Amino acid sequence: MSQSSAWRCSVCGYVHRGDQPPAMCPICGAGREEFQAYVEPEASPLAATAWRCLNCNYEQAGADAPEVCPVCGAAKDRFEPEAPAPAVEQAGKDVGRILIVGAGIAGISAVEAIRRSAPDAEIVLISKETEGPYYRLNLTRYLAGEVGTDDLPLRPREWFAEQRIDFRAGLEVAELSPANRTATLRGGEAIAFDTAILAMGAHPFVPPFGGATLDGVHCLRTLDNAQEILAAAKAGEAGVVIGGGLLGLETAGALAKRGADVTLLESHAYLMPRQLNRTAGELLAARVRELGINLLTEARTDQIVGDETVAGVALRDGRMVSAGLVIVATGVRPNSYLARRAGLEVDSGVVVNGRLRTSAPHVLAAGDVAEHLGRLYGHWAASQYQGGIAGMNAVGVDAEFGGLPPSSTLKVMDVDVVSMGISDPEDGSYDVIEDLRDDVYRRFVFHDGGLVGAILFGDASVGSAARHAIETRTDLSALLASRPNAVDVADYFAAQ
Ligand SMILES: Cc1cc2nc3c(=O)[nH]c(=O)nc-3n(C[C@H](O)[C@H](O)[C@H](O)COP(=O)(O)OP(=O)(O)OC[C@H]3O[C@@H](n4cnc5c(N)ncnc54)[C@H](O)[C@@H]3O)c2cc1C
Repeated sequence: MSQSSAWRCSVCGYVHRGDQPPAMCPICGAGREEFQAYVEPEASPLAATAWRCLNCNYEQAGADAPEVCPVCGAAKDRFEPEAPAPAVEQAGKDVGRILIVGAGIAGISAVEAIRRSAPDAEIVLISKETEGPYYRLNLTRYLAGEVGTDDLPLRPREWFAEQRIDFRAGLEVAELSPANRTATLRGGEAIAFDTAILAMGAHPFVPPFGGATLDGVHCLRTLDNAQEILAAAKAGEAGVVIGGGLLGLETAGALAKRGADVTLLESHAYLMPRQLNRTAGELLAARVRELGINLLTEARTDQIVGDETVAGVALRDGRMVSAGLVIVATGVRPNSYLARRAGLEVDSGVVVNGRLRTSAPHVLAAGDVAEHLGRLYGHWAASQYQGGIAGMNAVGVDAEFGGLPPSSTLKVMDVDVVSMGISDPEDGSYDVIEDLRDDVYRRFVFHDGGLVGAILFGDASVGSAARHAIETRTDLSALLASRPNAVDVADYFAAQ
């Protein structure tokens, strides 16, 4: 491991200060191997030469590449020289008032990027939630009792005053007029802006089954949601979680760890169908059952039943699962209503270009609310990167979001499960190298001499190196020419 005094978690972006990375990320629980050496980003000087990050396409002007990419944390050797960039005279100067709607990770990353590049910018940050910004991705760990409320805040309250941010919690932006450059709060107050960044995130999607509004039916998106679920679980209610994706699994695992009697319903034949193949999904099912969770696959919900209060879930095949607590974890949808009403281009999410600009000048969008090249990311790292890039563009520092391969890491279940990129390709033009031994499953997917996807179950220690190879499109033809098995490929990444 290299010499460094700071380490960045590649799963959640947490920066740990010290000579060694921590054994476990205190924020998201990722292991030591997920940490990479980190150097504090510096404000970008503007000069004749420009550099492009091969990871995330961030561009920086200057005689030399930065030690570390301020957007994705990639090291200096991951930058390539570019043709001289035109000087951005206005960068960081006279940018006026920037309004950010939503104080999740996208909103906070935007604030930080703005403050770095434009020390005098006036920043107004509006949040519908009453709590300060928190590690939303850790709500399942909170539910499991692995972290407490003190571990959740993204920034301490005093940080906002120190950074001269006009932070207003518990308020909702109800109307936006891009033409007049004003936002109107519910309650009527109008806020003028020069540039706005929409970072409103997403909300849980609940399929239209009957009974979804009964007392005792919950979703998990906010700290309030988590506290309500915890109160019901502690009261000894038997729980049903609908949805065997990442969120449903972590929620079921968390409740089981709290001693609750939990049933997990997955409509597909195996768990995490969007991220895993059948082999990994079935290995995961065994782990889920070990935790005492009653797992039902191919279990399609017909309706949630009860009078005023939930009594259980009726399945389409006639089975009935009794429960006093039902958690629906069947996906999310972007909070795009504000943008739609404002006349911005909205498809599934708010449509943005590579600079994260929407169809209206002076309005940008980032995070779960944004749709980039037809894609909704719905994950932490993408929201963090996008927030930073939107913040830079908002103050005239040109930066582009180049996309990220999909990536997911399962928390709470005490088993390493990582899926990244194209892990289960549908056509035969991909080379798949896989191996299952001693409950460790590794699957590497190659295309055109490079790694494009992987599933690691039971041992994800090479996850970081594999992700790096995918993101940087590393040429692995020589490795492939040696006809490696999956252990050889893992050994190769372990040596990187
Ligand atoms: C329990 C849970 C576990 C997760 N685990 C993982 C994980 O392990 N890995 C991973 O990559 N991702 C995970 N995610 C997803 C990840 O948390 C999200 O992708 C990320 O938080 C999105 O950040 P965001 O800033 O775009 O939106 P959000 O975090 O949703 O923040 C948006 C904020 O804007 C506010 N808002 C909305 N509309 C308005 C308005 N009109 N006016 C004012 N404020 C408004 C919302 O109330 C919210 O506070 C998890 C999510 C959940 C819920």
